[in-house]
Amino acid sequence: MRMPLAIAVLLATAACRPAASPGSVAEAAAPASDDASAVLACPADATVMDGWNDRAPPRKIFGSTWYVGTCGITSLLVTSPQGHVLLDGATEPAGPLIEANVRALGFEPSDIKYIVNSHEHFDHAAGIAYLQRATGATVRVREPAVSTLHNGRSDRDDPQFLEEGQAFPPVTGVQPIADGETLRIGTLEITAHATPGHAPGGTSWTWRACEGERCLDMAYADSLSSISDDEYRYSDDAAHPGYLAAFRKGIDTIAALPCDVLLTPHPLASNLFARIDGREPLQDAGACRRYAESGRANLESRLARERTGTTP
Ligand SMILES: [Zn+2]
Repeated sequence: MRMPLAIAVLLATAACRPAASPGSVAEAAAPASDDASAVLACPADATVMDGWNDRAPPRKIFGSTWYVGTCGITSLLVTSPQGHVLLDGATEPAGPLIEANVRALGFEPSDIKYIVNSHEHFDHAAGIAYLQRATGATVRVREPAVSTLHNGRSDRDDPQFLEEGQAFPPVTGVQPIADGETLRIGTLEITAHATPGHAPGGTSWTWRACEGERCLDMAYADSLSSISDDEYRYSDDAAHPGYLAAFRKGIDTIAALPCDVLLTPHPLASNLFARIDGREPLQDAGACRRYAESGRANLESRLARERTGTTP
């Protein structure tokens, strides 16, 4: 199935800027229920910029892969009998909601051995400090993101460095993971792929999930939107040598990932809830390639605007 035009547009505009209305922070302050049936469904008419702090009902995606995030920001739990991996911590208010979602599915937060990250922007990393304390897990990110997580703030390497609202709680004891390195917990294997560009430490992750004899390649492909603060120019290679080339290489990487099931840091960027709930096919072998091509078109459009001085 081809990606609907509306989704491609969402991909092009999906940002890590603070949402105009960040959602119900007050709800996050109350203890979150361990009863999944008590969690309201996400609004069907939401957009990528909605519901970042609103708890989504936790649920199975496929096999050992579970959705534990919010209505607007993805957090994934990949489980094994020997321990689990949590992918992304979403926003700061989302941390306790993700913990509650893990419990609501019947898993113990203390069984999470690793927390990994798609990229080091506040909407995917601000909940990590809380979740690390709640789980005792080791945080593993690619090298460009290590100092950003330690500091709770990026630097000029980040295209969005000057945007307001990007700071987040610092994370201690962050360990690097290399491009192509595989984390192993018993039979669980999850591999990091360097896909920088939207952020310097951008990383996509792949693993296999099985239900009986049926096994699928799961791909958590990082954001590809080429947005920035007012000063940054992707085309200014003197300011950041090799960054644009690395961005393009990362897009190629995502296009070529083993990918039966595309998962994205903003769930609506890949229509994830409709696909989990069976209203659209969950499995789509061409989804990563089309996601990558949408990101590539977005980048080329951005570069064209930089050439004519009409950006951002
Ligand atoms: Zn971002």
